[in-house]
Amino acid sequence: MLLQRQAQQLDDLEHTVADLRAAQAGPAPPGAPAGEAGSPFACASLPEFVETVIAPLYARHGTSSGGWCPSWWEHQEARVRLHAVWRAWESLRLDPSLGIARWLRDVADPQIDRLRDPDRGPFAACGDRHLQPPDLPLTPAPDGFWDGTAQNLSRGVPPPTGAL
Ligand SMILES: [Zn+2]
Repeated sequence: MLLQRQAQQLDDLEHTVADLRAAQAGPAPPGAPAGEAGSPFACASLPEFVETVIAPLYARHGTSSGGWCPSWWEHQEARVRLHAVWRAWESLRLDPSLGIARWLRDVADPQIDRLRDPDRGPFAACGDRHLQPPDLPLTPAPDGFWDGTAQNLSRGVPPPTGAL
């Protein structure tokens, strides 16, 4: 009985916290999705963020894909960069004065420009259909390379006296 009452009190508190967070967040910026009740995020997932915020915001005329890949989710670099853009947006949108301006200047514009770079961006070869870019070429280090001195150098630790 006591346990049930405490569980109910905890449930009530969680709802109160969710309501307070929603009230503190204030109105969402224009074009922002509604989000899930009780979620600290306006977008429930990265695909939702890309579909409801990024795609309409960075729409362009005049080119077919304009340095974009319809299968953006196939590109690991795009997933990582867009996830960072999403999480920054979730945080900065809560600042009603300069949040979105800072998000555009410091996060979204540089990251989207990087993704859509027609020469160096991950979508450069895609056009209207996806082409998987190759991973960076890697050559395995010789046996013992990461032992001792080389391993210490990779961690930024100075080598022992006389090691080089
Ligand atoms: Zn692609």
